[in-house]
Order: sequence, then C-alpha cells, then structure tokens
Amino acid sequence: GSLPASHRVAQLMTEAHRRFSSVDQGAVSQVYPALAQMPAHLFGICAVGVDGQTYAVGDALHEFTIMSVSKPFVFALVCDLLGPTGARERLGVNATGYPFNSLAGIERLPGGRSNPMVNAGAIATTSLLPGATIDERWASLRDGLSRFAGRELTVNDEVLASALASNFRNRSLAWMLQGFGSIYSDPAEALELYTRQCALQVSARDLAIMGATLANGGFNPITREQVVKPQTCHHTLAVMLTAGLYETSGDWLYEIGLPGKSGVSGGIVTVAPGKAGLGLFSPPLDEAGNSVRGQLVAQFLSQRLGLDMLISA
Ligand code: GLN
Repeated sequence: GSLPASHRVAQLMTEAHRRFSSVDQGAVSQVYPALAQMPAHLFGICAVGVDGQTYAVGDALHEFTIMSVSKPFVFALVCDLLGPTGARERLGVNATGYPFNSLAGIERLPGGRSNPMVNAGAIATTSLLPGATIDERWASLRDGLSRFAGRELTVNDEVLASALASNFRNRSLAWMLQGFGSIYSDPAEALELYTRQCALQVSARDLAIMGATLANGGFNPITREQVVKPQTCHHTLAVMLTAGLYETSGDWLYEIGLPGKSGVSGGIVTVAPGKAGLGLFSPPLDEAGNSVRGQLVAQFLSQRLGLDMLISA
C-alpha cells in the first residue's frame, strides 16, 4: 500500500505544520549573499503518493532555489545513461564524513572520488551530462529535472549571479578534481552547469513529486512519464542514504529511516520507496546545512504515516 487514508494524511500534515512552526532554531544560509535574504518564517510541506494523491500545507507552493536537492536527480540522469558500474567507477559512492563543500575530505580519497551527494562529486556528476555544447548539456539537465518535477523549471537569475560571483570553494573543488583526473569535461564548464542547476527554482510540491518519482521506480505519478529506469532509482536512493544529509546522514537515517536529500535553501526531499515522496521547506539550517524544521517534519511524518523503511510492522 501507499499512504494511509486521505483524511488521516491531511490531518497529520496539518498537525506537523502546527507543531513545528514555532521551532526557531537554526540560521538562514550565508553560503551565497542572495540566499541570506530568504524569510525565515516560510514553511511548506507536501506529500505525493505513488498513486499521485497530493497533500500540501503552508508555503508548499513558494519557490526557492533547489541547491543540493538537485544532486540526486542529476545523478539519476547520469546513472541512467552510464549504468551503475560506469557511474560508480567515475564518481565513487562512499561517504566522506566531511561537510558538503570540504576540500580536505576529497583530498584523501582515491582519485579524489567522493560521492554524488557532496559538491565535488556533484560537479563531477554534472560533467558527465550528454550534449555536444554547453547549451545542449544545460538543456538535457534542465529538461531532465523538469521531467522529474512534471513542469518546466526555471533559473533564479539573482541567486545564480550571486553564486557565480562567490562560489570560490566550488571553483577550487572543480580544479582539484581536474588535478586528480576525476572530472569529465572542462572544469569551468562543469562548475557553470552545476551552479545553474542549483539555481533552478522549485517548491515543496515540486520536490514531493520528484521524490514520488524516485519512490515509484522512475515513473512520475502526476505526468505518467517514465523519467529514469527502475534500477536507477535503487542506485540513487542508495547514495542518498549514504550521504544525502552530508556528515549527519547517519543521524538522519537513525531517526527517519528513509533516503533524503537536503539543500542550503532549506529544502529536503524524502523518499519512501513504493509509497510516497515528501517535499519539505523551511530556510533555517543546522550546523551541517540541513533544514531544522524539515528534519523534524520528516521524522514526525515518517513515523505517523508508517513510511520508515526500517520498521516492518
Ligand atoms: N550551490 C550550493 C553550493 O554549492 C549548494 C550546496 C548545498 O545546498 N548544500 O555550495
């Protein structure tokens, strides 16, 4: 079965929103100047079942930049094309235990290969996108993520400009990978595409649909399009479990029991295989860069909706 009865899901979602809207821990991201402008009070929750049933509360339609929540979906596109072996050989799939933009964490790894959920591995993933020119590669990226969301996603130009002007650590990572021979296009171009992918705008509802597509073997339950192969979802969910919440992925799995992916705008996608996708949005972040309220809602709903993969009853 998918989600519990509709009235029950609606009731629990409303309760989650009410219960956690007073939580005021965490701080809005300072990673890029334009992100620091986000209002801290925004709070949206959306659940989409594999049957397409949609439940939304609060600011579920408010758009924000996807940031690192783009990583699993770009990885899915690349893994779908290269196959799981080719993708793992080039990118790695093990946790670094370091923050998402760490250079030290990459330096010590064989060939500098980390995993597709941290910045270095995500930039390397983006460098593998098909297309003869940067425009073609951008089109395949944006189109691929749009098929997961079931609508055409667009870039926030202000955040993009801010990111391109201040992404010094990511520039270092791209050139470090080049030194290792572990980036597969021109590093400057891979960095440009990665920065654009992070500036695509989504809502909590979009994230829930994208998550539901991964929960549903790559078949988007709203558009009824097969976006990636079923086996690609397995590999994507595996890397999300390993490193979706960076160095606190173990804490997340311990509490929530599901694959997830966070981003510095305050978005989190959570996937309950065979059941549903959750899209969560609240800008204040903890030390690791994960939405504070988003994590609380994920834990509450994972338990109350019976989604936790590690509970068999
Ligand atoms: N674009 C951001 C960065 O590269 C995304 C990081 C994130 O969301 N964790 O720093």
